[in-house]
Amino acid sequence: MGIKITRFQYLSVMKQKTWNKITQKYHFGWLSDFGKLFFPSICIGCTQPLNASEDTICIDCLIKLPRTNYHRLEANPVFNKFRGRIQVDSASAFLYFARGNSARAFLHHLKYSGRQDIGKRLGALYAKDLMNEGYAAPDVIIPLPLHQSKQRIRGFNQCTSIALGLNKYFGAEIGSDFVKRISNNSTQTKKGRFERWENVERIFSIPNPEKISGKHILLIDDVVTTGSTMEACGHTILEAGPTKLSFLTLATA
Ligand SMILES: [Zn+2]
Repeated sequence: MGIKITRFQYLSVMKQKTWNKITQKYHFGWLSDFGKLFFPSICIGCTQPLNASEDTICIDCLIKLPRTNYHRLEANPVFNKFRGRIQVDSASAFLYFARGNSARAFLHHLKYSGRQDIGKRLGALYAKDLMNEGYAAPDVIIPLPLHQSKQRIRGFNQCTSIALGLNKYFGAEIGSDFVKRISNNSTQTKKGRFERWENVERIFSIPNPEKISGKHILLIDDVVTTGSTMEACGHTILEAGPTKLSFLTLATA
């Protein structure tokens, strides 16, 4: 089932975004509610209007979230991606990412419409699921860093939004600047797995290893596909001597 967003609905999202920016900039919080009268909030998953008690995602879409529940299996398909490549304590993804599904719509709006609220909302939902099932909360959450130039253009790192959401339940330290991205590897999607690994191998550095040493580190990305970027970042983190390294992503392709 494909999700179609009409031009009107798309414009409604964009106008709302602009309006939110204006009200945030000038601290007119009350104008935000006023704005909702003109540009009613719509659910990013199904584009239906949200009611007053719903936050970012409607109740129908929440029920139908394509959860993987991989955290219930130690040897799940995401963990298996990294087996033999890097020593990770656990690895999992919240949602299945597929053509036309809600996870794809959520991630698209998170990355390209500046909807950081989606990252926070889904991150919090995921952490709640994990903690309900005895997940060991980390000491430090590291959002996979974007290259500086990319972050400047986008204005934010979507992985940080996810980390903030997760941290509603984890209560860890968020190490947004604990790992630096030192080169851009934007051409990697055209290369094979081995070449890609070679390409990303030395793109991360850790300015202060003592912030990572002796701690349980959780590395966050938005979507895991081949896992080569997380693997490369993970190897750099392991050099700093954490007690444990875990991976979580919002979705798996
Ligand atoms: Zn919905």
